[in-house]
Amino acid sequence: MSDYKFFEQVNRSFDKAAAYTEFDKGLLSQMKICNDVLHVTFPIERDNGKIEVIEGWRVEHSHHKLPTKGGIRFNMMVNEDETMALAALMTYKCSVVDVPFGGAKGGVKIDKSKFSEREIEKITRRYTYELIKKNFIGPGIDVPAPDYGTGAKEMGWILDTFRQMSTDINAEGCVTGKPIEQGGIRGRTEATGRGVFFGIREACDNKEDMKALGLKHGLEGKTFVVQGLGNVGYHSAKYMIEDGAILVGVAEMDGSIYSEKGIDLEKLMAYKSQNNGVTGFPGTQTLKNSSSVLESECDILIPAALENQINSDNAGKIKAKIIGEAANGPTTSEAHDIIKERGALIIPDNYLNAGGVTVSYFEWLKNIQHVRFGRMGKRFEENSYKKILSVIETVSERKFTDKELKFLAKGGGEEELVDSGLEETMITAYNQINEIRKEKGVDLRTAAFISAINKVGRIYGQMGIFP
Ligand code: NAD
Repeated sequence: MSDYKFFEQVNRSFDKAAAYTEFDKGLLSQMKICNDVLHVTFPIERDNGKIEVIEGWRVEHSHHKLPTKGGIRFNMMVNEDETMALAALMTYKCSVVDVPFGGAKGGVKIDKSKFSEREIEKITRRYTYELIKKNFIGPGIDVPAPDYGTGAKEMGWILDTFRQMSTDINAEGCVTGKPIEQGGIRGRTEATGRGVFFGIREACDNKEDMKALGLKHGLEGKTFVVQGLGNVGYHSAKYMIEDGAILVGVAEMDGSIYSEKGIDLEKLMAYKSQNNGVTGFPGTQTLKNSSSVLESECDILIPAALENQINSDNAGKIKAKIIGEAANGPTTSEAHDIIKERGALIIPDNYLNAGGVTVSYFEWLKNIQHVRFGRMGKRFEENSYKKILSVIETVSERKFTDKELKFLAKGGGEEELVDSGLEETMITAYNQINEIRKEKGVDLRTAAFISAINKVGRIYGQMGIFP
């Protein structure tokens, strides 16, 4: 494998797309660079009394919109290049789905399995303290969220640490993906996977595009493989199955499994937590290694683990007609070209996994508005529907049952409104980039980059240079 480094990969995709835009070279360079790169090291005391030095990063890629926004990753592979690449992807992703943030990303280089929960809490709080001290966090500055290896618990610790040191009335908006009780929003945990599902469904509903791939339109009956059954992988699979797709393969750290008859996701999740892996799951065939299943027979492949998983070594062996990039950077630019050559459709990460940041945006709005979505309007809507239904009853002389009334007169609460906002965002953005794809004769990734560069570039163009 001789593929480029991650940030270079992102910039190669950017350059390819920039050729279809009309911005000045200098402005394009300004868009590509990372505005601020913070590297921190700090000691923590382990449970055994020993001191260990921890290394972390926070990168703010673009300040064309504030706050900047992006997840925090806990993983041994975290490094500066990866954090810069992921921060840049966040800028383009936010722009593709019209979420008004600049891009950022953070990471702490640790193997979580080697630390106790108490130690992870210490690391999270100390990392947050470093961000506060250096002005790299705040509801109007930079707002972290969960990513690989982090979740609601870590976000709760970040908020709590921030609040100890701030009197900002909007303090809750300093981080998203928090527990509901701490100002989180319903639907954030599943948002990225739900968005992946909406995006793939939209692609599959396009008759013309599916015909070009030699597939029937619609998700129903399509087979798919998922790599990485964590937050994003699990939720993507769950909604795909609910809509009639068939899960035939799964890759996890311990290996991979395949069954053309389909895999029961919930039973597999229970098996995974009991056995610390997926191999040996009854009714499936265990394959040679973790990545073997990526090359197996299926309609859709969803990489939902880490970057560079589809590279020049395995791209030629992948059979899926649709690659739905749930992870960030799962396909190297070399692999992208090989897959494109074969005529498969790649639904790119900078669009497809934007569901997380979209719902994070809703959470941030909720925090700075200090009111839950639906609180003002839900009952009002319900009463209005009931009035309309009673007129229908009078005119039609048919009485609705209590069950029908409950269903028909339901107002939008937080859960429904978030889901509807997410669905609308993913559908609109898909059709925008698909239109650019057709108009310019490019692939979807390039189209998404063109869309992002045009939107970000227009703002930079109007900003002027200070001083
Ligand atoms: P996670 O930690 O919840 O899950 C990742 C899963 O992948 C784990 O189960 C891990 O065991 C598995 N895995 C790791 N390496 C693997 C390999 N080589 N083969 C098979 N399985 C492997 O992380 P997540 O939050 O689901 O994030 C996954 C990807 O999605 C990352 O690229 C992340 O940047 C991206 N993403 C996440 C979010 C979010 O809201 N969490 C948002 C946007 C993008």
